[in-house]
Amino acid sequence: MSIDPVTLNNQPDVSGDTRQYIKKVLQLIEKSEVTPEEAGWITKETVEGFREYVNPGFLEYRKTVTQGGQFAAVEWSDSGSCFKDVNGKQYIDCLGGFGIYNVGHRNPKVVKAVENQLKRQALHSQDLLDPLRAMLAKILERITPGDLKYSFFTNSGTESVEAALKLVKMYSERTTIISTTRAFHGKSLGSLSATAKGMFRKPFLPLIPGFKHLPFGDIDMMRKTFQTCADVGEDVAAVMLEPVQGEGGIILPPPDYLQQVRELCDEYGALLVFDEVQTGMGRTGKMFASELYGVVPDILCLAKAFGGGVMPAGAVVAKEKVFKSFFPNPFMHTTTFGGNPLACAAAIATIDVLLEENLPERAGEVGRYMLEELRKAAAGHDDKIMEIRGIGLMIGIEFHRDEVGYEVSKGMFDEGVLVAGTLINSKTIRIEPPLTISMEEVDQVVRTFLKVLSETNA
Ligand SMILES: *Cc1c(COP(=O)(O)O)cnc(C)c1O
Repeated sequence: MSIDPVTLNNQPDVSGDTRQYIKKVLQLIEKSEVTPEEAGWITKETVEGFREYVNPGFLEYRKTVTQGGQFAAVEWSDSGSCFKDVNGKQYIDCLGGFGIYNVGHRNPKVVKAVENQLKRQALHSQDLLDPLRAMLAKILERITPGDLKYSFFTNSGTESVEAALKLVKMYSERTTIISTTRAFHGKSLGSLSATAKGMFRKPFLPLIPGFKHLPFGDIDMMRKTFQTCADVGEDVAAVMLEPVQGEGGIILPPPDYLQQVRELCDEYGALLVFDEVQTGMGRTGKMFASELYGVVPDILCLAKAFGGGVMPAGAVVAKEKVFKSFFPNPFMHTTTFGGNPLACAAAIATIDVLLEENLPERAGEVGRYMLEELRKAAAGHDDKIMEIRGIGLMIGIEFHRDEVGYEVSKGMFDEGVLVAGTLINSKTIRIEPPLTISMEEVDQVVRTFLKVLSETNA
């Protein structure tokens, strides 16, 4: 008996229709500009695709942060400090992909390095020694503070945090790990154990046992915790924190806090892990925020801008005394794609651009100017704005109420500036543009902020 495939339900559809659809999408990818008809089709397919096959929740979210029909804005191309939607509307990117575009969108030097690598070899054999991994690791040893030395490469910030946690556990026989309130370290089960937001954690409890969250900035509490943990035989293995909290709402550490945490760790024999996934690669005015505060961690987590906004790439860099726990068996922690040649090429070119163009220093200077201008623009709006704070080009605008923040974001998006809330603190919107942003673009962002703020009456 033969079965007619068409009469069966739920069979995979590999008919001409599906094949044609695939061809059409591949043809679109080739285009840098699209016609209005194509733009209409792309928009319809994207909105439908999100509703039916990705997650309709994103459409609802987009409606809360845009006006009119703009929730359906579909991005298509980018360069410099800007990206464009399919209809050709241009936006200055002050979200910076959560801080991944430190060297700008599609920085030509980064694109070139990746293209050159792609022409020769895209991914690695997984068995032979791959050269760029070794060279990037050496460069990292040079540019990171203190005696940070060995690197393990990852594909994301979450993975860098996971690797750091496993290093802590390999190194230490202790199980208590201190992280901080409002911290964001990622959302995989391990990194989520360190992340602070209850809403993200609750459905997945229990997470890794032994985590304690202490108020960020409260050194007395930290000291007491170290002592009580020691008293009850649950010594602290490590403290993990962001030198400047990003998703928590751009929170700067109190003066001397990081230094004092370092001293406590040393006193009690615990490791200090800095999650610089967002603050690293020049964002705060130094290559790494740890340099701003003169504190060297035992383990440093990187990602986001590490791949230059072209490749997903991350790293965890550790001191030899810690990393050597992975020497006897380098397969204790592995990843297929981490440290692949394309990612390494992107990271090496990114570091070159940051150094050649003095971008960390520029971030410090432009950031100071922008912070001051934004504060001037906010003068007289104390009823709406609680505080504008930041360091380098990591700036947060905190509103008294969420609704005002949403209204300002919507208005700015309408005017062609993308800003967005932070994941842990919805009262704060972030300004994290490329470190290459021009002064004209900075002024335009400030003017837009002033205009929208004056028109907002939420
Ligand atoms: C974004 C972020 C992460 C998570 O990085 P992903 O690449 O999204 O996994 C971890 N830590 C910090 C500080 C971050 O800002």
